[in-house]
Amino acid sequence: MRPAHLRPGCVTRRVLVLGGTADGRLLAERLAELPDVRVTYSLAGRVTAPALPQAAGAARIRAGGFGGVDGLVDYLRSARITAVIDGTHPFAAVMTGTAVAGCRAAGVPLLVMRRPGWTESAGDRWHRVPSLDAAARALDGLGERVFLTTGRSSAAVFAGLDRHWFLLRSVEAPGPVLPARSEILLERGPFTVEGETALMRRYQVDVVVTKDSGGTLTAAKLSAARALGLPVVMVDRPPLPAGAATVPDSGAALRWLDAQCDGAGGPPDPPGTQDPPGTPGSADPLAWPGR
Ligand code: NAP
Repeated sequence: MRPAHLRPGCVTRRVLVLGGTADGRLLAERLAELPDVRVTYSLAGRVTAPALPQAAGAARIRAGGFGGVDGLVDYLRSARITAVIDGTHPFAAVMTGTAVAGCRAAGVPLLVMRRPGWTESAGDRWHRVPSLDAAARALDGLGERVFLTTGRSSAAVFAGLDRHWFLLRSVEAPGPVLPARSEILLERGPFTVEGETALMRRYQVDVVVTKDSGGTLTAAKLSAARALGLPVVMVDRPPLPAGAATVPDSGAALRWLDAQCDGAGGPPDPPGTQDPPGTPGSADPLAWPGR
């Protein structure tokens, strides 16, 4: 259950949510509703029109990398962040590693919010592989026409496979290095089982390649593949860094944040304290309207 506010006596929380996912965005929306929380929602800044928290009137948005561990430490200190919740994608392993190291160095509590991965059901024909390179190798013998849903930055990994044809689906156009025979489909989820089934039939897909992203937004392709009897090459998640506290959803993240009120919050802001400027490249560096 979501707390209506953090426990009485808790100083104002300055929470940094590392986002770029629907889960991170929804968490930022929920946090922005709490009267005693100031939330900054952080994006890598790679997508032209990113989905932003709906309660944008209360959430501050920043975009662009921090500049590695040292940059993140500087940011946490200058913005006086009291807690970080990593709501990045399960495959954004560099950012998560930076968050673990940076928060440790700055003495700021960190929580990693990771939705559970997908699990196989009866009728599924999954081939689990440890990496995108392994996914490319696994395609041999699974069919010629490939539905590739691993994101625009991974298309180059499949560029050497001349005997396959690829339907590449991504939110934004992939880079210039592409498989010789391919078609690009620019679409953002959520997708429906009916839509995915029709798409796979229309393009006569033989095999689906996906990362184990988990969640419901993009899971319809798995149901469609099952219904059509198609194999799925499933790329396993990178491991989480050791020692990272992890929860599966925003409800658990809010409870964790509430528990942080037991002393990790630091002193209350002195009267007249100004919010620090945002990181260069921020979409809206000083926006915390309504606060
Ligand atoms: P990554 O490899 O882990 O991160 C690369 C660099 O991008 C990081 O070192 C950091 O730059 C910057 N960065 C990443 N996420 C950031 C954030 N939320 N706020 C500020 N800087 C961030 O990440 P990625 O796999 O390229 O993914 C980039 C973004 O897309 C992530 O935010 C992720 O949530 C989202 N996303 C990724 C996937 C995927 O499949 N990987 C899928 C959907 C959404 P500095 O080193 O300069 O700090």
